[in-house]
Amino acid sequence: MKIPKTADIVGVINKIAPIALAEAWDNSGLQIGDPAAGVTRIMVALDPTPDVIDSALKASCQLLVTHHPLIFKPLKSISAATPHGASIQKAIKGGLSILSMHTNYDIASGGLNDLLAAKIGLTGCAPLKVTTTGELVKLVVFVPGDQLEKLRSVLSPYAAAGAKYRDCTFAAEGIGTFTPLEGANPFTGTVGTLAKVPEERLELLIERSQLPRAVKALLAVHPYEEPAFDIYPLLNEGEKMGIGRIGRLAEPVTLAEYADRLRKVLSAPALRYVGDPAARISKVALCSGSGASLLHDAAMSGADLLVTGDVKYHEARDAEDLGLALIDAGHFPTEIIMVDEITERLGRALLTSGYTECQVEACRTESDPFRI
Ligand SMILES: [Zn+2]
Repeated sequence: MKIPKTADIVGVINKIAPIALAEAWDNSGLQIGDPAAGVTRIMVALDPTPDVIDSALKASCQLLVTHHPLIFKPLKSISAATPHGASIQKAIKGGLSILSMHTNYDIASGGLNDLLAAKIGLTGCAPLKVTTTGELVKLVVFVPGDQLEKLRSVLSPYAAAGAKYRDCTFAAEGIGTFTPLEGANPFTGTVGTLAKVPEERLELLIERSQLPRAVKALLAVHPYEEPAFDIYPLLNEGEKMGIGRIGRLAEPVTLAEYADRLRKVLSAPALRYVGDPAARISKVALCSGSGASLLHDAAMSGADLLVTGDVKYHEARDAEDLGLALIDAGHFPTEIIMVDEITERLGRALLTSGYTECQVEACRTESDPFRI
């Protein structure tokens, strides 16, 4: 029986949506709660509204995972006289931690924008606007030849590579020298004598974010008392990640047909669109939630259409001027799809991590505040 702490779940979520990907203006991550508290029940929801917090407490959850952050602007008070303050007080008093995965989940590979892209039939997707390019470093470690394979097997899973390769490393032979001093307990060689040892130089590229884990793994298996390794900064660019997606439909369709299809797959009661209903659509840009600020990025990328929510009148006019079709499918319908997805993925990730005593459930009480 293994019960995770809140901090353990933060670690699991960080693999699905690395916090380092969040936009600078965002406030993703643990909003309130105790990182050391044990968690046996988790609820997943889109918004940390008072009703959702009530649902989570009623279901005896100790953690609520939401897309939108509970705390976004700096707080001036936490008064129970305001709905926001009352929510924070109620969650703390009820022992409910609240964690949000917002722009880090939008941007992450396999995150909300990829989920929406798959849902609306897009393939071959790339980020619409790149917000981060993975930083790469080179890790070089020197090891006796007979220990090379052991070290390679431990480090190669950390190697950064393209989508079609893995376990990329390089090794070359050389001679290492050292003189063990008084008090040393050398793996090879004698105290006070210069040792010349045939060694291998093992090197690999690693995403900067993976480096601490890789070094820890290296230190755990390297035979030397004081392993020699170097970390080089690089100018190579890593994986490009960003907000929104652009991809293609399997078959071109008219704007009117596609709008109708979207309304059905997103279970939206209605949606609005801008453009000629008969226009042929094949290249589609999207941004879940609120993405009309990406109109120009979509037009510049050669998209026929941008799918998003929260479109204002003048943004609709801008789309007309750009000759870009625009579908406003709503903030809620383009994002509520994360609830089932995260419930399932988080549940699976917890089991994989050995946390068999922690249940994840979807909040079923949320609805779109806009009615038609
Ligand atoms: Zn949103």
